[in-house]
Amino acid sequence: TKWVYTFGDGKAEGKADMKNLLGGKGANLAEMSNLGLPVPPGFTITTEVCTYYYAHGETYPAELKGDVEKALAQVGELTGKSFGDAANPLLVSVRSGARASMPGMMDTVLNLGLNDETVDAVAKLAGDRRFAYDSYRRFITMYSDVVMGVAHHHYEEILEHYKVEKGYILDTELSADDWAFLITKYKAKYQAELGKPFPQDPHEQLWGAIGAVFGSWMNNRAITYRRLHAIPESWGTAVNVQSMVFGNMGETSATGVAFTRNPSTGENALYGEFLVNAQGEDVVAGIRTPQDLTERARIHAGSTKPSMEAALPEAFKAFERISHILENHYRDMQDMEFTVEKGKLWMLQTRSGKRTGKAALRIAVELANEGLITEEEAVGRVEPGSLDQLLHPAIDPKAERTVLTTGLPASPGAASGAIVFSADEAEAWKDKGRKVILVRAETSPEDINGMHAAEGILTSRGGMTSHAAVVARGMGKPCVSGAGALRIDYAAQTMTVSGETFKKGDLITIDGGTGQVLKGEVPMQQPELSGEFATLMGWADKVRRLKVRANAETPADARMARSFGAEGIGLCRTEHMFFDAGRILAVREMILADDEAGRRAALAKLLPMQRDDFVELFEIMKGLPVTIRLLDPPLHEFLPHTEAETLEVAKSLGVDVERIERRNKELHEMNPMLGFRGCRIAIAFPEIAEMQARAIFEAAVIAAKTTGETVVPEIMVPLIATKAELDIVGAVIRKAAAAVEEETGAKLTFQVGTMIELPRAALQADKIAESAEFFSFGTNDLTQTTFGVSRDDAGTFLGTYVQKGIVETDPFVSIDVDGVGQLVKLGAERGRATRPNLKLGICGEHGGDPASVKFCDSIGLDYVSCSPFRVPIARLAAAQAAL
Ligand code: ADP
Ligand code: MG
Ligand code: MG
Repeated sequence: TKWVYTFGDGKAEGKADMKNLLGGKGANLAEMSNLGLPVPPGFTITTEVCTYYYAHGETYPAELKGDVEKALAQVGELTGKSFGDAANPLLVSVRSGARASMPGMMDTVLNLGLNDETVDAVAKLAGDRRFAYDSYRRFITMYSDVVMGVAHHHYEEILEHYKVEKGYILDTELSADDWAFLITKYKAKYQAELGKPFPQDPHEQLWGAIGAVFGSWMNNRAITYRRLHAIPESWGTAVNVQSMVFGNMGETSATGVAFTRNPSTGENALYGEFLVNAQGEDVVAGIRTPQDLTERARIHAGSTKPSMEAALPEAFKAFERISHILENHYRDMQDMEFTVEKGKLWMLQTRSGKRTGKAALRIAVELANEGLITEEEAVGRVEPGSLDQLLHPAIDPKAERTVLTTGLPASPGAASGAIVFSADEAEAWKDKGRKVILVRAETSPEDINGMHAAEGILTSRGGMTSHAAVVARGMGKPCVSGAGALRIDYAAQTMTVSGETFKKGDLITIDGGTGQVLKGEVPMQQPELSGEFATLMGWADKVRRLKVRANAETPADARMARSFGAEGIGLCRTEHMFFDAGRILAVREMILADDEAGRRAALAKLLPMQRDDFVELFEIMKGLPVTIRLLDPPLHEFLPHTEAETLEVAKSLGVDVERIERRNKELHEMNPMLGFRGCRIAIAFPEIAEMQARAIFEAAVIAAKTTGETVVPEIMVPLIATKAELDIVGAVIRKAAAAVEEETGAKLTFQVGTMIELPRAALQADKIAESAEFFSFGTNDLTQTTFGVSRDDAGTFLGTYVQKGIVETDPFVSIDVDGVGQLVKLGAERGRATRPNLKLGICGEHGGDPASVKFCDSIGLDYVSCSPFRVPIARLAAAQAAL
C-alpha cells in the first residue's frame, strides 16, 4: 500500500479527486501543485493510515516510518534544506485534513523542527534573530497546546507578566533577546506541566504531531461533530506535512485568507484579509485587526491601513491571477489561504468557499452566465433550504419605524403580530386565525409548537446561538433574541420597553435582519423574487418532474403560493375557515344542535360563507387544481373552553350554559388525535360533508363563469382506514354534485379522493383506490400513527432520541424513509396497481423538506404540497432530485 503522497515543484502524486484518500486539504494541495502554482513542497499521509492506526491498536504500518523519511528527504531536496540538520534545517507544518473540513480535528502546528540548536541556524540563515526566536516561541506554545494539551494561557500569562515588567504594550516591541529569555521560561513551564523537557529531537516532534492528528480523530469534539453531520468514523483523517514558508519575516512578509467572490453577497470581487509580518492563525485569532486585500475594499471600509494591493503590489497581482486560475479550474468560488515570504507569494490551501444563501444563488447564476458551469449544475449548487433566508418579507424601507429597542438579529425576515407570552397561547391564537409574536425571556424545547405557530419570536435573553435563535433559523422564522431592554412580566402579561408598557394582544413588529423591535404593525415588502432567484427557479423548473403545490386556505396564502410558483393547492384545510369570527357561532350552533334538523339549520347559515371562501380560492388559482379536505378535527375544538367564553356563547346562541358544558363533556376525548375526527365526523353527520360538498360545487360553477377556466375541485376525505368509509362519504359528495348540476344546469368535473394517513389505509390502498381518484399522503398523521408518537407530546423525548441516534432526524421534519416512507411507497404501488392513473401527492411538513421531496420523487409521486413559503425550496429540491 502507498501510505504517503508527495507534492511540490509543479507536480504531485495526488490530485483533487483523491479527497477520500488524501483529505480535502491534501488533495487540493496536490492539485494546486499540479497546476504549477507556488505551493511549499510537502507530503500527505493518507486516511488509510488513520484507519490502519485504529484497526491495529493505535500503531502504524511497518513501512510508514521509511516512507515518511523518504518523503522528507524529497522535500529537503526541493527546498535545499534537511530535516533535523543543525546547519540548514528544514522546518515543517503538520496539518490535519479530513475529507470534509471538520472542526474538532487537531489544530495546525507550525515551525516544527525548531530546537535550541536549529533556532540559531535559522537566525543565521535568515539574518534575523528576532524572527527565529519568534518562530520558536510560537512553536513551543503550539506544540504544547495542540500535541500535549497544555493550554496556551499558561504561556500567555508568562508573556503578559513579562510585558508588564518591561513596560511593553505590543508583542512587536519584544526583541530577539526578549523572546530568547521567554523561551527558557516557556520550556521550564513545559517541564513543570508535563514532567519532561520540551522535545529537542525534530523526529520526536514530528511523530508526536502526527500521532496527535490521528488521536484527534477520536476526541470528543470530533466524535460529536461526526455524529451531528453523519460522517462515518471509517473515513479517517489525513495528515499533511509541509515545508514552512514565513509570513513573519518582516514588512514584506504577510499571511492572509481570501475568497474569489464575496461569501455574503456573492459579488464577483476578490474579498479577504491579510496581516503583515504575521504567521498562521494570527489573521483569524483577532489579536491584531487584519487589513483589506484590495484598495476598493479598503476605501469602502474607510480604513487607513494599507491594502495588500498597495502594500505588496507584486504579491497581490500574483494572488489575483492565481485566484482566477483556481476559480476557473474548480469552477466554483474558492476560499484560499496564502502566505507572502519576503515578497514571494505561496498558496497554502484552497477549497470551495462556504457562503450565505443569497451569495450561493448569485454565484451559481453568475457562474452559469459566465459559461463556467451549466444551468443544471447551477441548480445543483444551491442548497434548497438556504432559499429560506431569501423568501421572507422585509420591512418596507419607506415605512415609518418606531424602534422600541434593538436586540440580536438572530433569524432573518420581518414579522408583525399580536404579543403573546406563552407557547400555548401562541398556538391558541394562531388556531383562531390571529398572527402573533411570541415574546419570552427565553425559549425552551417545550415552546416549539408555540414557535411554530408564531410569526416571529422575540426574547429578552440569549444570544445568536440561544435555543430561540437556533430553532427559529431552523424554522425559517424571524427572530430577535437577547433584547435586554425588555421587561417581561408573565404574571401581569405585559412587556415594558423604553418606558412604554404593552399588553398581551398589542401589535409589534420584529426585524430579524437588524434586530429591531418596532411598535405596531409596520408595512412590509414582499421578498424580491426576480433577478437571480427567478432565473435559477426557471432553470429548476426545466429539469424537475415532480409538481409542487401549496397548502393554503386563506386568499392571502393562496396568492402568496402562486407568486412563489405553486402549481395548485394540495391541501385546503376547511376547518381553518370555521374559526373565522363571522362564522364560529354558526359552527357552535351546529355542534350544539340536538338533531339533524337543528344541525341543518345551522349549516344553512354556513353554506354561503363556505361557498364564498371557495369562489375566491378558485378565482385566485385560475383553473389550477385545488384539493379541498372535508372537516377534519374533533368537534370539541370548536367549542368554548373557558367559563367566560362559555357564558358569552350561551348568551349569543340563547342556550343554557349547562347545555354547552354537557356537550363539551360528551365530546371530550382521552385521545383526540385518534378520536372522533376525520371521515368519522362525515359518517356520523353526513349533512356536514353534504354542506361542504355543495359549497364547493356551487363555488366551482360560479368561478368557472368568472374566470373562464374549467374548475376541477378535488374533494378529499380525511382519515380513511377502510374503503367502506370512502364509499359512504363519496356517495354523499356525488349526491351533492348531482343536486347542484340539476339546480344550475352546469356540468361539473371533479374528483373524489382520500388522504392516506393511517397505516391501514396504506396497506389497503389497492381496495381504496377502487373508490378514490387520487391519494394525498398525509405524512404528519401517518408519522404519528406509524410511530405511535403524538407530535404534540414528542417534545419531551424526541430530542433525546435524536441525540442518542435512535432516529437520525426528527421524523416530523424529514420523512422516515425506512418506516413511514415504506408505507407511502407501498400505498402508491398498491393504489396504482388498481388504478394506473391514480394521482398521488403528499401534503404536510414533509412536502417542503428537501430530503423528503427527493424521496417523493424517487417513488414516483406526482406532486408535493407544502406551505407557501417553502414552495421555491420544494421546486429546487424537486429539480435536484431529477438531476
Ligand atoms: P485549518 O484547517 O484550521 O485552516 P491549516 O492547516 O490550514 O489549518 O493551517 C492554518 C494556517 O497555518 C494556514 O492558513 C497558514 O496560514 C498556516 N500554515 C499552515 N502550513 C503552513 C506552512 N507550511 N507555511 C506557512 N504557514 C502555514
Ligand atoms: Mg486552513
Ligand atoms: Mg391528518
